[in-house]
This record gives sequence, structure tokens and C-alpha cells, in this order.
Amino acid sequence: MKKQRSREELRLLKENSKRRRSGSNSGPRRKQVDWAREDSEPNFQAMKPAPQLDLKQAKQEAAEKAEREAQLDHENLPRALVVSVFMDRVRVSLDGSDQMVMLSPDGPRPAVGDSAYVQDDGQGNLRLAGLAERRTVLSRPDPQTRHKALVLAANVDTAVIVASAKAPGFRPALIDRCLIAIWHGGATPMVCLNKVDLIDAEQRGEMEARLKAYGDLGIEVLLTSTETGEGVAELTEGLSGKTCVLLGHSGVGKSSLLNAMDPERERRTSHGREFDGKGRHTTTASELVELADGTRLIDTPGVRSFGLWEIQGDEVQDYFPELAQVAGSCRYRDCSHLVEPGCGVPAAIAEGTLHEARFEAYRRIRASLEV
Ligand code: GDP
Ligand code: ZN
Repeated sequence: MKKQRSREELRLLKENSKRRRSGSNSGPRRKQVDWAREDSEPNFQAMKPAPQLDLKQAKQEAAEKAEREAQLDHENLPRALVVSVFMDRVRVSLDGSDQMVMLSPDGPRPAVGDSAYVQDDGQGNLRLAGLAERRTVLSRPDPQTRHKALVLAANVDTAVIVASAKAPGFRPALIDRCLIAIWHGGATPMVCLNKVDLIDAEQRGEMEARLKAYGDLGIEVLLTSTETGEGVAELTEGLSGKTCVLLGHSGVGKSSLLNAMDPERERRTSHGREFDGKGRHTTTASELVELADGTRLIDTPGVRSFGLWEIQGDEVQDYFPELAQVAGSCRYRDCSHLVEPGCGVPAAIAEGTLHEARFEAYRRIRASLEV
């Protein structure tokens, strides 16, 4: 019954948008009259024969206009939240209910977290009509092409980089790399050191000293344990009402933290099994879960190569804000802090204003991008 009504709604919306489009023809004509009134002098600039370049520009402008109009059309359509992505369809949450939406082969490729415009195709199927502009993205290179971006998740507010204090041992390199990718995509990073129940007070002190480098950048750092429950309430609180994703090496405790924040999760993943177009289990795909407090948790595998492919070597500095502070004291304004004489980095490290481990991370990342 509910489905019938929403289909009828969709039809009405479609009709309305058609009517609007046919009525909009008078728009540009009105604009021309206004222009003539404002400027009665002939515009010689505009009368020059259009050079070749303008043709290209005009084409691009026409394409952009078409895109804008299509977007306007979409704006009348219901918007759904993409919660899971399969080969030829996506699962969405639409007005609180789960629906399948078909993708067209040449249409946009949605990611978990996308806000999608959906349309009834008249045969009882929902189709994807377009995607709303993404606020943020987390992407990695497409393993097939290596050049195109695969968006892992869209519209993420907070990306939590999870590291483990022990078993597996602390590996901060991923934190530095993830930070760049998170900032690049527009989300806010957070660092979580999990399994702190496995370390003693002395080791804990050492860890805290190392993590201070991130705290000093204004990044929220949390120490957690799913064994003792330490920090779990703070994590839940910090993510409340946001769209979030947990990133980190395998075995650091991402699933355990998700379970701790969403007690229903285990039951759902063991009973609510679904298969994608190729018969694969959905737990291998990214999935978004909405909690009662409005928090949206995206569970995304495949973050191992989560990466820096879009970043050039000399852009790495932009993602090490503490190096910008040092740059003022370097002899050369565009100092790369790698080879130049008169570089301010050694003094900054000696004075304790720059964390040596972060500078080493900068060096390593630059080296890895320049091979
Ligand atoms: P994921 O691969 O990052 O999702 O890691 P899991 O959540 O699967 O955790 C890997 C292993 O670490 C499991 O055996 C968990 O029980 C264990 N584990 C997770 N969190 C903690 C923790 O805070 N303390 C301890 N001691 N073990 C943990
Ligand atoms: Zn320098």
C-alpha cells in the first residue's frame, strides 16, 4: 500500500517537473530584454568573430547548462541514502524504509553514503536519476585501471583512524598516510589507539607521547579498549549524529569497536545475509548502518590501498600543517625540507616544536610518491 502511494507521488513529481521545464522557455528571452535596457551601447567585444577556443568553451558551457538543468530536475525527486552498493543496483534508505534502486550502465556510480535522487520507471522499479553533490569523499585508486578513483564512501564527516597498541604492534605510518587522504577528501580525522588493555603504564606513557603529535594538530585522539570498555563511550559520543568510517590495518579492532558502538550489529550480520549480483556476500561490500541517535556508521573493507594516488610529491607539505610553521625559518621560501641548505627543520626538531616522527613520515611519504 505504501509503495503504491509513493509510486503515485513519483509520477506527480515527474509531471510537475515536465510542466516546469516547458514553461521555462520564457526565461532566457526575459533576460535578454533586461540586458538591452541596462546597456544600450553596442557591445563590440561581443561582436568579434568567435575564435576557435570559444567554440570549445561554448560546448562546455552547454554541457554544464544541461547538467544544471538535469540537476534541477532531480531536485524534485525524492532523495535516498545509499546504504550498500552492488554491481547493478544499490540498497537505499528512503523515508525510513529499505529499497533497491537499479543503476543504468552509463549513469553515475554511487558510493555508500551518497544522497541519491530516485525515480520510478513506471514498471514498479526504482531507478537512480542522479547523485547530489558530495560534501566529502574517501577514495582509492581503481585496482583495475590504477588511474580512476573508486569512491569508498561519500559524505563522511569523521574518519576514525584505528591503530592498535599491541597485537598487532603500533604502526603509525598508516596514520600519517590516512590523514592526508582524509583531509584531501574533506572529512575530519580522528585517531583511536585501541587495545590499551594490553600495555602497561610505561608503554602507555610512550604511546601518549607519540600520539601528542596528532593532538598538537588539533586532531582528537582517543585511547580505547573493547575488553575493558575504556574510551568506548567517548568514541560513541564523539561520533554522535555524524556519518563516520573506521579505517585501519586488519586486526586492530575495527569490527570490535563497531560492535561496541552498535550492539545490534553482530546479530544483523549473522542473520541478515544478502547476496549481490554475483552471489557474493554483502559483508564484503561497504555498508552503512544508522544508529538510533542518528549516527551513521560505514563499514568499509578494502582500505589497504586507501591512498595518496591523487597527490603530487610537492603537495605533501600541504598536509603537514606543522611544516608550514617551520617554513618561515627556512632560507628558501619554497624549501622542500629535504635537501636545501639553511632549512629550519633540524632546529625545530631540536627545540621540540616539530615532532621528529612526523617529519620522518613526511620524508617517507614524499619518497614513496617520487618513485
Ligand atoms: P578488525 O580486523 O580491525 O576488524 O579487528 P577485530 O575487531 O576483528 O579484532 C581483531 C582481534 O582483536 C579480535 O580477536 C578481537 O577480539 C581483538 N580485540 C579487539 N579489540 C580489542 C581490545 O581492545 N583489546 C584486546 N585485548 N583485544 C581486542
Ligand atoms: Zn626547510
